[in-house]
Amino acid sequence: MTDNLFLTFPSCSDEQDTSVFSAEQARQSILEAVTPLGNAAAELLPLLDVLDRVLAEDVISTLNVPPHDNSAMDGYALAASELPVHGDTRVLHVVGSSFAGHPFAGDCGHGECVRIMTGAVLPDGLDTVIPLEHVQALDTTTIRVDARTRRGDNVRYAGEDIRQGQVILARGRRITSADLGLLASLGKQQVSVMRQPRVAFFSTGDELRYPGEALRPGEIYDSNRYTLYAMLKRLNCRITDFGIVRDDPVVLREALISAASDHDVIISTGGVSVGEADYVRQVLGEQGNIAFWKVAMKPGRPLTFGQLGPALFFGLPGNPVAVMVSFCQFVHPALLRLSGECVNQPFILQAVSNSSLKKRPGRTEFQRGILSHAPDGSLTVSKTGEQGSGVLTSMSRANCFIVLAAEQTRVEPGTVVIVQPFTNWL
Ligand code: AMP
Ligand code: MG
Repeated sequence: MTDNLFLTFPSCSDEQDTSVFSAEQARQSILEAVTPLGNAAAELLPLLDVLDRVLAEDVISTLNVPPHDNSAMDGYALAASELPVHGDTRVLHVVGSSFAGHPFAGDCGHGECVRIMTGAVLPDGLDTVIPLEHVQALDTTTIRVDARTRRGDNVRYAGEDIRQGQVILARGRRITSADLGLLASLGKQQVSVMRQPRVAFFSTGDELRYPGEALRPGEIYDSNRYTLYAMLKRLNCRITDFGIVRDDPVVLREALISAASDHDVIISTGGVSVGEADYVRQVLGEQGNIAFWKVAMKPGRPLTFGQLGPALFFGLPGNPVAVMVSFCQFVHPALLRLSGECVNQPFILQAVSNSSLKKRPGRTEFQRGILSHAPDGSLTVSKTGEQGSGVLTSMSRANCFIVLAAEQTRVEPGTVVIVQPFTNWL
């Protein structure tokens, strides 16, 4: 049913062209409208440059990791047949040493063992390592061992981490710190990754000033461009900051046309409600295939989305919290999909609310919460004070959204609620 939501939208010349979507419908419609950048957009980069980039191809291991059976402990390597029976001890002759990077080259026969260090190659024919602290040294070449150790103990087997031929990281995966180490352990010097989405963003509003400027009566500092900058940076986008755009259709048109020519995504904030100075609608109506939605959510009710030339356009609301909520719920998944990453539902947890939460039915609310542990280890959440959509401190103090479903009404303390931890986004 969501298939056609985007395409059947009335054009923006239509006066009636606002529709009410649920937050999930809006998210789905947006995702359906995004075409991933694809492999034509892949680039081969040095290993150290690919953290947080998206893999453009499966990484298949060309070797076993570890490449050989080796010792997990400092101790003595021997064949299990040399181990004493239960309750007994046995004296063994030490015929040499195997160090990490310097394998033992000789033979180890009946009644013999090899001193071995962690990570050193297990000599041919040996299958067990007795830890140093379980061994009694009788002299420099003779030891006494007991029966605590079992066959195969303290051995790391070739290929136990990664097998040759195995798909170790799949296309579409965003490379993590562990992945970077994994790629290095395969000897990879270069990795094929998707190019970064190019994202242009700007704030609209005659009342806005840049930090560092003096404020005149009625003016405020622009904060939206900074939260957007940060969230886009976290997503490893290539960003262009178009600054503050005045509430003037001519200037706005210029900014939009210029941004659309060489960006994959354009994000504006403000000017999408029905105030007199809200020109985004008007200008977009002339320039692109854009839908104006009323999303049944708070904050973030007005949302403008569509195509502007080759670029996707997101017209976010002006209120600072609404910007962040709309970004997390809609722009973030769209950018993941564009980047070639698989998009899952946001990670959620259940927690007991410590706060009483005001809630009107008929819309999903993304209240800001602090998730923590009760003394018994269970998760609890408290709201971060005043929840107005302009109250940016409510986001700054929070570490999660408390997601209250459309049908939900007031929440009493002690009620279990759904939370989305910010680890997803911020
Ligand atoms: P608008 O949607 O343009 O009517 O803006 C809604 C509210 O958000 C107004 O109170 C604006 O002053 C405020 N606002 C808009 N843009 C920004 C911004 N970039 N930084 C801080 N506040 C903003
Ligand atoms: Mg405005």
